[in-house]
Amino acid sequence: MANTIKVRKNYQYCLYRCDKKDEKLRHKIFVASTIWNHFIALQRRYYRMTGKYIPLHRMNKHVLKLRKMKRFALWQDLHSQACQDVCRRIDKAYQRFFKRLSKGRPKFKRASKYKSFTLPQKDKGYQLVDYNRNKPKGDDKWTRERGIIRIDGTHYKFVQHRPIQGEIKTLTVKQDSMGRLWLFFSVIETISIKQVSTGKSGGFDFGLKTFLTDDEGRAWSSPQFFTQGLRKTSTLHRRLSRKVQGSNHHKRAKCALAKHSADVANRRRDFQYKLAHRLCDEYDIIYIEDLNIEGMKQLWGRKVSDLAFAQFVDILEWVAFKRGKKVMKIDRWYPSTQTCSACDFVNQQITLRDREWCCPECKTHHQRDHNAAKNIKTAGASAGY
Ligand SMILES: [Zn+2]
Repeated sequence: MANTIKVRKNYQYCLYRCDKKDEKLRHKIFVASTIWNHFIALQRRYYRMTGKYIPLHRMNKHVLKLRKMKRFALWQDLHSQACQDVCRRIDKAYQRFFKRLSKGRPKFKRASKYKSFTLPQKDKGYQLVDYNRNKPKGDDKWTRERGIIRIDGTHYKFVQHRPIQGEIKTLTVKQDSMGRLWLFFSVIETISIKQVSTGKSGGFDFGLKTFLTDDEGRAWSSPQFFTQGLRKTSTLHRRLSRKVQGSNHHKRAKCALAKHSADVANRRRDFQYKLAHRLCDEYDIIYIEDLNIEGMKQLWGRKVSDLAFAQFVDILEWVAFKRGKKVMKIDRWYPSTQTCSACDFVNQQITLRDREWCCPECKTHHQRDHNAAKNIKTAGASAGY
């Protein structure tokens, strides 16, 4: 069975480093930051005077008007649509604030904290250059791995490790914490879902001791990537703290630390993708608990962040979606740990420390996570998914 479906996807490519050219893109990001701060100031002043908010369409108009003025000649360095995109970001931030989704009103941002600008329309402000044009004969590798993009008359090379499929919607140029520049293409792609049914469903329990336990009692432990790298992290932190702020040595040390953190995150994500695929190989329906991550963090701290359950659930859902499988979340208040999977007796006495317990009603001996996984499967199946 195969059906096609449209999805929004990101393609992410790293630009080749070139100090002279990179400076131009960094300048554009800087311009975007000045626009951001200008409009934040404007919104606040307008609110003080009238008690109202400037809607997006008026900001869009206004930014184009200002852009033509001599005082704001700097803004000419950024494409008009990219300028308007900054307004869109401000509007988005304020809408979140109005809906009480953010902690406070949108803030001013230091230029060094502002990381990207977006060109919201294909071929407006940039062109992908057909790099096959001057291709040497018989040299396939060259064409495959190098892409060229023209932004404001300058050509930039980037590592194109895979071709872009689908229809390009937006392009975002972004600087990461190591100072590298990236291209993010947001694309609408039609993917075909090839479903291979196995007819199996499974319940899974997340835990701190073992990352994942299924209803057959098998366990998958997660390497604790952050804890593994902790020694190196603290060494790098120590080195950084000894450097003079603002010096080149400081910059370099900061970069090394950022690189290490990115490395930890990459390895964790890689592990989680592989695990998600392995689960989807085996099961058609996967039952998991709806986790209360914030509450867990307060209880157990750093270890929860290191295991990154929430990220894994996102990845699992995406992989399952792509492969035509289902992930079902069961109610977070269901006492999966305390219920006896054999006779449904709810044992309130179980604490976090009890790895194993014996049911006082039917005398079944339970291994904590295995029992929970069994319950999650039963609860999911009985909910009629
Ligand atoms: Zn029992």
